[in-house]
Amino acid sequence: MARLLRIDLSSLTAKSEEVPEAYRKFGGRGLTASILDREVPPACDPLGAQNKLIWAPGLMGGTTAPCSGRMSVGAKSPMTKGIKEANTGGAMAQKLARLGFKAVVFEGEAKEPTTVKIDKTGVSFCSAAPLAGLGCYAIIEKLKGEYGDNACFGCIGPAGDMKLTAASIMFTTPDFHIRVAARGGLGAVMGSKNLKAVVVDDADSNLVEVRDQKKLKEHNSAMSKGVLGTHFLEGLRHLGTPQIVMITQTAGALPTKNFTMGQFDKAESLSGEYMEELLKKRANAETVHACMKGCIISCSNIYTDEHGKFIVASIEYETIALVGSNCMIGDLDMVARINRACNDAGVDTMDVGSALAVAMEGGLLPWGDGEGALKLVQEINAGTENGRMIGSGAKVTGDRLGVKRIPHVKGQALSAYDPRILKGTGVTFATSPQGADHTAGIVLPGPHHPEYSPVQSTGQAPESRFMQKWMAAMDTLGYCMMIGMTFMEEKPKLLHLNVIGALSAVTGETYPDTYVEDLGAEVLRIERKFNRAAGMTSEDDRLPKFFTEEKFGPAQFVFDVSPEEIDTVHEQ
Ligand code: SF4
Repeated sequence: MARLLRIDLSSLTAKSEEVPEAYRKFGGRGLTASILDREVPPACDPLGAQNKLIWAPGLMGGTTAPCSGRMSVGAKSPMTKGIKEANTGGAMAQKLARLGFKAVVFEGEAKEPTTVKIDKTGVSFCSAAPLAGLGCYAIIEKLKGEYGDNACFGCIGPAGDMKLTAASIMFTTPDFHIRVAARGGLGAVMGSKNLKAVVVDDADSNLVEVRDQKKLKEHNSAMSKGVLGTHFLEGLRHLGTPQIVMITQTAGALPTKNFTMGQFDKAESLSGEYMEELLKKRANAETVHACMKGCIISCSNIYTDEHGKFIVASIEYETIALVGSNCMIGDLDMVARINRACNDAGVDTMDVGSALAVAMEGGLLPWGDGEGALKLVQEINAGTENGRMIGSGAKVTGDRLGVKRIPHVKGQALSAYDPRILKGTGVTFATSPQGADHTAGIVLPGPHHPEYSPVQSTGQAPESRFMQKWMAAMDTLGYCMMIGMTFMEEKPKLLHLNVIGALSAVTGETYPDTYVEDLGAEVLRIERKFNRAAGMTSEDDRLPKFFTEEKFGPAQFVFDVSPEEIDTVHEQ
């Protein structure tokens, strides 16, 4: 049976223990939430020794279920001051699961920057001094040279060392590109523990225990057949998440000029369609790429320059919109370069992209100044005053520059959907225990609910509630949100039951038809409880005022879902 690995950085010791009963039914986000709820004082300093950093594969982690190798990274967030789960692809979850770990809990604080290695023989510690001062690309190269191709890595860059609130944790894919546990400043938590890098090598490890392989195979096949060919997924398989640029542009919901407009006149030059044409002509580029083994969608890409030189992998919709249109930067190559600089510093492109737009609104640099934005992001590594400000995200940057319109909830920048057009998504941004985040449950019109109108001011809370539960469950099971959302698009009941059947094949237990929603609801309850104890109230479940006051787009929409309706989201 999988075990819990506790690593005490204060004493540089580790112990593997039986998973306590209370944690057994969870994996991924549900497990990180449960451990935080039971073991971390909600009012503690997120950058103090009482906080814990948890890495947890989902319940399906390490199995052959499609797209099930995501990992949840959890801690109390220095950005939201509440509970946080940042979700990532890459190789880490599957390797930890194969080594027999349900989660790794990093506790205490090391005296010096430390690298931890985990493999079949146990846990070892060494000084991270050789990684000092390096950007994340150089750190990964160095680790790869030292530990070889079978290892995978999680590390922080200069932003994490400086404990900046937009610092992320960078993980490697099987082919050593970067995936990011981006949100909520969890890189700063890792930095506060003097944990610089973690190396995991699963050589000679066992396959994950599965009670009924035949049954799992049948459910896997049904899930894959069910989702392949759906509209959303086919778009992802050709254009990746950049396909969303023209969808939000057409809907008038593409963040532009710090959320003052919903359409950008250069949107086409940032679109997935444009990117596909461009990358097809470029050497060493790929328009479809998988960020982890077992992915049947491959929504990632490898972005190279006109000479075939690698820039970044993968460039995603959220980055394109928040660094591109929201800053009025219409040059995709420039957005890719800024993306790379963010990865090198080890920061969240969403919060930093949003911070750049806020800085433009505050007059620090002109709208559309790509070179200026790139230099500012590169200043994070140098630790200049402006670099530290931008690396701390939109809220800190806006407060520092006296900007009134800061698009954030609970201190975390909004993902790239304007809530005045997508009001159900706005309700999720407002009420998610995670702060404003697209992974918490965006609500989009689609074949699974053709009647849904995203611009209506009523009826949004139930839509948001359902999606928040669904995504919390997907994160707990370890499924990528791309397949998780597609599970609902067509024949939802059939797919839903296969998700439950696959879990049953792994554990040997039976679950009710309501399992997925019940699971999501329970995870949200735990997260809300933590946040309440940390001091949050319903006042924290609100969008910034400018979304409710500034009329937007040709139809002059505002975000007008009432506070009363918003407060019903977590009632059931
Ligand atoms: S669908 Fe995309 S994000 Fe999800 S696992 Fe595959 S490549 Fe990674």
